[in-house]
Amino acid sequence: ERPADQPQQPPLEYDPVLCQKSTCKAVLNPLCMVDFRTKIWQCPFCQQRNPFPPHYAAIAEDNRPPELYPQFTTIEYTLKKATTLPPIFLFVVDTCISGDELKALKESLTTALSLLPADAFVGLITFGRMVEVHELNVKGIARSYVFKPVFESHSNHKLFVLPNDDQVIPGRKLFC
Ligand SMILES: [Zn+2]
Repeated sequence: ERPADQPQQPPLEYDPVLCQKSTCKAVLNPLCMVDFRTKIWQCPFCQQRNPFPPHYAAIAEDNRPPELYPQFTTIEYTLKKATTLPPIFLFVVDTCISGDELKALKESLTTALSLLPADAFVGLITFGRMVEVHELNVKGIARSYVFKPVFESHSNHKLFVLPNDDQVIPGRKLFC
């Protein structure tokens, strides 16, 4: 539930607009550079220039869709295409917190996990000084991929990017 003091996002009865580069598929968001005259948006992740779909024909500097407003920190779409995938939940956790906070967070996460549908896919990424992508499908063993965050500068934004495979260090456990 969204706190009452945050702007309410109008319901979006359409699918998210995706970057057309097949290896990217990033979703249109407020960090994208938009040329309202040519109706082209540039992906901040791969720099691909993408045309807007036909139903964005009326887009203009003073007539932006909700997904281009930075005050809507969460955007919810009602998908038009049927999906065959079960729901996916990705938890991204900042671990630079006190021991008490970490304990409370661990309890909240455990509660959240107990409320998810049985067929849901769950992912966990934790980040502090290092970033860890946790493997959750191995019973009894806590395994994760640890790597140093790498930052690349694109226009005015700093973007976090995943390093190449050879820069990933397997294994150290955190939650156990
Ligand atoms: Zn892209």
